[in-house]
Amino acid sequence: MSKPENAVCADPYKRHPGVAIATWCPDHIVPHKGSPALFWDLSNWQPLCQGCNSYKAAREEGGFGNETQGVGGSKSSATPGV
Ligand SMILES: [Zn+2]
Repeated sequence: MSKPENAVCADPYKRHPGVAIATWCPDHIVPHKGSPALFWDLSNWQPLCQGCNSYKAAREEGGFGNETQGVGGSKSSATPGV
């Protein structure tokens, strides 16, 4: 993940199989829970689109307690705040 602008959602939950959704939002595969080691471990990072991010948050927290920036539902071309 050296070029985040080229990152495509890892789709770990197979929510949109075969559909490459560009994203620039990194996500922690293993929740870091405040651990700097996990937080900065690049092998623990994966690109997740907004939809998958929300889905993961809902799965792991049982709700949408993990607000992220940006609007959900966009199918492609996540535009970084230009
Ligand atoms: Zn996704």
